[in-house]
Amino acid sequence: MGLVLAAELALSGASVRVLERLAEPETSLKAQGINMPTAEALDRRGLLPAAEQVQRDVLERVGTYGRAPEPGDRRAPDARFTGHFAGMVLDPDLVDWADPDIAAHTAAAGARMVPQRELEALLAEHVAGLGVPVHRGVEVTGLHDTGDGVLVDTTDGPVRTGWLVGCDGGHSAVRRLAGIAFPGTAPELTGYQAVVDIADPEKLANGWTWSSAGAYRCGPQPGRVAIVEFDDPPADRSTPITLEDVQASLRRVSGTDVTLTALRATPTRWTDNTRQAAAYRSGRVLLAGDAAHVHPPFGGQGLNLGVGDAMNLGWKLGAVVAGWAPEGLLDTYDVERRPVGAWVMDWTRGQIAVLRGDLKSAALRGVVADLLGTRDGTTYAVRKISGVDQRVDLPGDHPLVGRHAPDLWLADGSRLADHGHGGGFLLLDRTPDGGFARLATAWAGRVTTVTDDHATPTGVLVRPDGVVAWACDTTDSAGLADALHRWTGTPVREPVG
Ligand SMILES: Cc1cc2nc3c(=O)[nH]c(=O)nc-3n(C[C@H](O)[C@H](O)[C@H](O)COP(=O)(O)OP(=O)(O)OC[C@H]3O[C@@H](n4cnc5c(N)ncnc54)[C@H](O)[C@@H]3O)c2cc1C
Repeated sequence: MGLVLAAELALSGASVRVLERLAEPETSLKAQGINMPTAEALDRRGLLPAAEQVQRDVLERVGTYGRAPEPGDRRAPDARFTGHFAGMVLDPDLVDWADPDIAAHTAAAGARMVPQRELEALLAEHVAGLGVPVHRGVEVTGLHDTGDGVLVDTTDGPVRTGWLVGCDGGHSAVRRLAGIAFPGTAPELTGYQAVVDIADPEKLANGWTWSSAGAYRCGPQPGRVAIVEFDDPPADRSTPITLEDVQASLRRVSGTDVTLTALRATPTRWTDNTRQAAAYRSGRVLLAGDAAHVHPPFGGQGLNLGVGDAMNLGWKLGAVVAGWAPEGLLDTYDVERRPVGAWVMDWTRGQIAVLRGDLKSAALRGVVADLLGTRDGTTYAVRKISGVDQRVDLPGDHPLVGRHAPDLWLADGSRLADHGHGGGFLLLDRTPDGGFARLATAWAGRVTTVTDDHATPTGVLVRPDGVVAWACDTTDSAGLADALHRWTGTPVREPVG
């Protein structure tokens, strides 16, 4: 998340540096895909073609597992990966693809199978292009908030900074050093993700299989296994994972004597430890990503949640640093992101509840499977997993307000997102006399205006994180003036109505 945040801060004009304790990028298996808000965040910064290329490469390696759109086809309606709930795979044929919120977000659908490692490489290139230094092999070991800045102790010596954001993962040192509590629910399982050579693959079923000990999945790539075992969390999560660990767990969960002969990638081990920071901010110290919340990786939400945090925080902190942030802007970060984090935590807790091996959980799983076997049930789950259901509680009664901006195609063939590569607010003005654009000139430098042929919505103001701050279907600019004052601060000159 540190890379996304660093890029957003740099785009807002802040001077930023990333401290990373690892000397080299991580190579272990983590997130395999991204959701719609993450894909659209990449899209808004001009990174969609690179992400689509990653997906094409993945699909070539994995084989078809969903249909990928042709390069450049931003309107492909069926390039969709629906995901699963506790291993119950959602059937794309049951999804109501005409659901207005789902149908409004297809342009970035060509970038869903973007694994974390490839995403991090792409982001590293992005931040390098923005001139952000990434200091590898430097660990944060202490911090002192002096009220007007933060003195940070590192293994490379002290660093003085105006603000410190801990994007340092679930075991966050920054969270601990800032004294921020991390309440939640304790873990009860051990999960593994690995790519292995299997001597006798016929002993395992493809897809997800449940048992009284937990559940396992084989595929979609050859040798890829995921295991969930209700055996309490590991005593020491820092010990390296061996082939024997993975094999023993897989044998217990599958009830077979399957033999694994080699590990093909650095495996990962995880638990269902589920917690959320009591505060995302303490003075000049903030948290984002896993540092602010941890939960099991079911349903593939953690990375997306962190990207959402970083996009939300980046422009707000950037505005504070630049000096034009309206009163209280930074505090809206916690207010807006906490409910999304809490939802993801409950979404994963619900999956653990139906995954347990006891008869009651198996019965509940049957009920959920029945519901997910319906069009409404699958559509509900896809709305949740894809992120199209997310809404920030903002003032305004237009249905777009608080939602991620939909695909807004313009008369010249471009999309509104194409105009946001440099960050900042985007104002779409479709009034016949350009009244909205005229008003926004008072906030020059903070708002980029795009004019278009007359159509509805007649005006849309999109925040740098892609959330619609204001929209309307008339030419009345009163709501726009309010939204500009609320989000973009004091105008640089007197607004012209
Ligand atoms: C098996 C598995 C599968 C997953 N699948 C998915 C999925 O499909 N979809 C999804 O969205 N998410 C998934 N996730 C979750 C996702 O990987 C995490 O949510 C994501 O990595 C969080 O990113 P982050 O930047 O907040 O933290 P991290 O990725 O943990 O990065 C934190 C960084 O901070 C560095 N650091 C730590 N301490 C210090 C310090 N003191 N000083 C300096 N640097 C420090 C670390 O070296 C690390 O590079 C999965 C996770 C696992 C384990």
